[in-house]
Amino acid sequence: MADYLISGGTGYVPEDGLTAQQLFASADGLTYNDFLILPGFIDFIADEVDLTSALTRKITLKTPLISSPMDTVTKADMAIAMALMGGIGFIHHNCTPEFQANEVRKVKKFEQGFITDPVVLSPSHTVGDVLEAKMRHGFSGIPITETGTMGSKLVGIVTSRDIDFLAEKDHTTLLGEVMTPRIELVVAPAGVTLKEANEILQRSKKGKLPIVNDRDELVATIARTDLKKNRDYPLASKDSQKQLLCGAAVGTREDDKYRLDLLTQAGVDVIVLDSSQGNSVYQLAMVHYIKQKYPHLQVIGGNVVTAAQAKNLIDAGVDGLRVGMGCGSICITQEVMACGRPQGTAVYKVAEYARRFGVPIIADGGIQTVGHVVKALALGASTVMMGSLLAATTEAPGEYFFSDGVRLKKYRGMGSLDAMEKSSSSQKRYFSEGDKVKIAQGVSGSIQDKGSIQKFVPYLIAGIQQGCQDIGARSLSVLRYMMYSGELKFEKRTMSAQIEGGVHGLHSYEKRLY
Ligand code: IMP
Repeated sequence: MADYLISGGTGYVPEDGLTAQQLFASADGLTYNDFLILPGFIDFIADEVDLTSALTRKITLKTPLISSPMDTVTKADMAIAMALMGGIGFIHHNCTPEFQANEVRKVKKFEQGFITDPVVLSPSHTVGDVLEAKMRHGFSGIPITETGTMGSKLVGIVTSRDIDFLAEKDHTTLLGEVMTPRIELVVAPAGVTLKEANEILQRSKKGKLPIVNDRDELVATIARTDLKKNRDYPLASKDSQKQLLCGAAVGTREDDKYRLDLLTQAGVDVIVLDSSQGNSVYQLAMVHYIKQKYPHLQVIGGNVVTAAQAKNLIDAGVDGLRVGMGCGSICITQEVMACGRPQGTAVYKVAEYARRFGVPIIADGGIQTVGHVVKALALGASTVMMGSLLAATTEAPGEYFFSDGVRLKKYRGMGSLDAMEKSSSSQKRYFSEGDKVKIAQGVSGSIQDKGSIQKFVPYLIAGIQQGCQDIGARSLSVLRYMMYSGELKFEKRTMSAQIEGGVHGLHSYEKRLY
């Protein structure tokens, strides 16, 4: 139809679709599934779409993707992988302050190729211990230090060559007797570059290179297999010192101030105040406290779903807002507390208000597909936070297990009884001071193995770029501009439209996404 041509002289194009303002003018709250975006004009390739977006007033990411501070989603491994790919991870706080700070430290100290927390044993461990470590972590040589920990004097290394030919009964043999002693080891000094270390490994033909400081204490290792896997991460989120960016969650109680101190000492870049209803005197007080004690630390408040909630936190000085209440996959908040808001409406309403003050918002929860990410961004979110979508990946905490032949990892709400029984931190997100009866706001379940986010996040990135291409937006700022100017058009989706938009009418099918 000639009407679709931008040029060509047919002139008049009838008005079609709704602006975001019109879409959200009705009293009904909308979820991501309740509307679609009408396609625009394509005059660029998807690869060119720039996904740079603000996480907070001062932090900008090249990939608008964030991993949620949940104990089955984000510890150091996830935060490192997310930052390498241009996003960021928030370390959960359902653990001691010391443990959380140490996870942050691992992210901040991360240097590609260098392993700073390898499995280490001592001379008084046994061959049996090595075999167990091999079963759990794979095997490529275990450094032996005096005390069996990092930071202690290196005394040897045990490789498969040292133990392969020992008889079954020799599992009790002490490693001190079988290890290759320090004197025969090739090591590199702390401060060595990855390139130099690589050359040393090439020359020595060894599988592992211990890195020691000038007191001969073990500070890191480098494995030949990891070096081979090394790739470039042009989008990586880094600070001015070239260290990866890392976020962490804290609560709003008195003892969270101690947690905050440890996190800042570990180098955390951004804090999220973790509460399901962030518009509280406790959170306002915490924002003031942090801004006064650590003026340069970026603080994200939330969660909120209305402009009125957002107003108080913006007035208090937050640098970003986390939006969502009751939309998470593991969440039963709306069912139990009667409060919440469909996520499409929440994102639009809060973003539309917060942008006047230059405060970016994170669309948190309810993201089930890459299309949902595009919709969240098209409604004004600057970034998107995910739990279930990143759970059960290799980088998510926890061990895989099998159920009915399916490989799974646990995924649970931080307000589930399961999580709250583990420690008091997650109770704080979901309970008020003095609550006597625990009321669960989340469930605990499992998710099928998704493989590494090294493959999954690039799929998400490419998907967002293609979505923007269909819309005709070359960047996320253009996307938001199009939405606020009314150029971007939406349409409501009836139930039958939703059925039509899904796979239908097939006897059977396989849904492979990438
Ligand atoms: P998902 O990406 O849909 O799985 O949602 C993850 C989000 O749900 C998190 O980032 C939190 O905001 C929220 N959430 C985490 N645990 C709970 C819970 O127990 N109850 C309600 N919401 C939760």
